[in-house]
Amino acid sequence: MSNFPRFSRRKFLITAGATAAGSILLKGCNPPTATNQPAVEATNFEISPEQMPETPRLKLGYIPIVEAAALVIAQEKGFFAKYGMTEVELSKQANWASARDNVTIGADAGGIDGGQWQMPMPHLISEGIITNGQRVPMYVLAQLNTHGNGIAITGIHQGQGLALDLSNAADYIKSFPANEGRKFKAAHTFPNVNQDFWIRYWFAAGGIDPDRDIDLLAVPPAETVQGMRNGSMDAFSTGDPWPYRIVAEEIGHMAALTSEVWQFHPEEYLAIRADWVDSNPRATKAILKAVMEAQQWCDRDENREELVKIVARRNYFNVPEVVLQPPYKGQYKMGDGKPEINDKMMGPLYWTDGLGNVSYPYKSHDLWFLTETLRWGFHRDQIPDLDTAQRIVDEVNREDLWREAAQEAGFVSDIPESPSRGVERFFDGVEFDPENPQAYLNRLEIKRI
Ligand code: CA
Repeated sequence: MSNFPRFSRRKFLITAGATAAGSILLKGCNPPTATNQPAVEATNFEISPEQMPETPRLKLGYIPIVEAAALVIAQEKGFFAKYGMTEVELSKQANWASARDNVTIGADAGGIDGGQWQMPMPHLISEGIITNGQRVPMYVLAQLNTHGNGIAITGIHQGQGLALDLSNAADYIKSFPANEGRKFKAAHTFPNVNQDFWIRYWFAAGGIDPDRDIDLLAVPPAETVQGMRNGSMDAFSTGDPWPYRIVAEEIGHMAALTSEVWQFHPEEYLAIRADWVDSNPRATKAILKAVMEAQQWCDRDENREELVKIVARRNYFNVPEVVLQPPYKGQYKMGDGKPEINDKMMGPLYWTDGLGNVSYPYKSHDLWFLTETLRWGFHRDQIPDLDTAQRIVDEVNREDLWREAAQEAGFVSDIPESPSRGVERFFDGVEFDPENPQAYLNRLEIKRI
């Protein structure tokens, strides 16, 4: 047992003779860092020596939005502990820039080892593109969720056609400088990642150039909502529970959910520093198994009420349960005369969606994020072409580890056949074929390349 000193200190009861028999039985783990962790699932679970993690310790950052639910559940329902990761610390991050800075520092120096990311943050951090040139190689290990995001519009624009198909409102938006003395103003929370991509895709599909026809900038959510209340902000690319609050608090309406823009789209991901993963391959797989099991738990109808109770807590999302209950049932009031949406498959999903497995990190989705990066001319010097994009995907995406973990955990039937999900379809008829991303770029009319 000399290889696992922390385990023996941490009240892991090792049954006599079990090691010789090739298995170690964990009974009633009592994780020291987890709060209110029942660890019920952690009893009487065997971890074979070849799967025993090198360390039980990992510090993961998260942002208090629905994307983080599987990480919270893995902690609170004892799934991390079940797989031997008894000292996982979930660290709430103030914003995406803090998460980036903390992973650059690393947990040993007071930061984090990894956590929840918008895309392609792990790729950009790996290349030193958003870290002042400091390369911190990271691995994308799993997708955390799909859906749960949308585009909100402030109340004064009701009745102007700002809906999923924006083409009828294009003149209204473009005439802002003439009529209002300023451009139509839209916000996201961090540049060049998911929320920026969703609102850009939506504007461009409606004939609005997000770089020329409007002002689009990164603004913290609370400031954005204040701006929407006082009329200085027109649109907001946002995530649950904001879509509920935008309509419930009569701030405005929802033009579109991302599940309408691109159903079952890739959303946020689990990624960890490559140095940690390379040093701790068994612990990495233990984390993956725990997250996978948490994702399965999150998607079961009978667990959604408890899920809301747990994530709503002050130490996690710190929001009233009532604002999380509707999205977790796929219920969205859209406002502005749009019919309500009431379909669980349109809300946040964690393990299975209409196209297969949610957790598996398809390389074809990483490639879309980097293709869209090319489309908008972001980081042109560092990511000049599709060959570079593909090279970065191959270095950062570790779908192979996900496969191994799923195999070891027995989730065999959920393992996708290919690292590509195939051709993706958007609401406006555009298709992204990962075998031919250039064709996608060629077809798009509004672009910076
Ligand atoms: Ca998001």
